[in-house]
Amino acid sequence: MRCEDVQNELSPYLDGALPIEQQKAIGSHLEACRRCAAHLDDYRRIGRTLREKVIERAPAGLQERIRAGLEKEEHEQSRGAPWQSRRFIAQAAALLLVAGLSGAGGWIAATTGSRTPPLAHDVMTAHVRSLLQDNLMQVASSDQHTVKPWFAGRLDFAPPVQDLATQGFALKGGRLDYVGSRRVAAVIYMRRQHVINVFTWPSDPSHPLPSLSQSSNGYNSVRWTSGGMVYWAVSDLNMKELGEFQALLSAA
Ligand SMILES: [Zn+2]
Repeated sequence: MRCEDVQNELSPYLDGALPIEQQKAIGSHLEACRRCAAHLDDYRRIGRTLREKVIERAPAGLQERIRAGLEKEEHEQSRGAPWQSRRFIAQAAALLLVAGLSGAGGWIAATTGSRTPPLAHDVMTAHVRSLLQDNLMQVASSDQHTVKPWFAGRLDFAPPVQDLATQGFALKGGRLDYVGSRRVAAVIYMRRQHVINVFTWPSDPSHPLPSLSQSSNGYNSVRWTSGGMVYWAVSDLNMKELGEFQALLSAA
């Protein structure tokens, strides 16, 4: 396996969520490859920091909820150290959001020591929130002629909506979201079991934004501008396929 592919799958690997052959292939790669093993250590470190620092800093009621979530995961997973899992970290991030602590994104940055720009955290947090708070879609349809008009009257711009089902990226619907202190469109696509949120808002012509791609906590995001709009696509889909998706959307 290529290192890039291994590193893209470390979160589900730690969750034990991959097909058994893939778990084995990644396991043997990790034994042989120091670079990928170091990435795995990073994931474990995130888990430990979460456990040791964040839970202690959380208010009492929230601590209980996080611990309860942790115990539930321990029951559900026979493999050890479930607090390392992406699912748990995402849950804890959502709990912090629900508890009204400022910015789970900043919290994730503090936890991982990453230097992600604030807006990237906003879109990442919005993505996690959409998955965990049952508000993924306000309009659920695979028909772009249903999803696109839904945004009219709710936003002062018209986000592009494409159905890319034949290319393997099925349109699922849309919702309004809140990113960088403004209302934005979120258009939802699926690649296999992976949800892709595409956040869109008008770009500022006086501040052109370079294209950007980055990974954080098992999520990948790409940003680009096109036709006067800023796009952020966020998913736990691997970066290669997310890049293909970006190319398809940009070309459409
Ligand atoms: Zn490697």
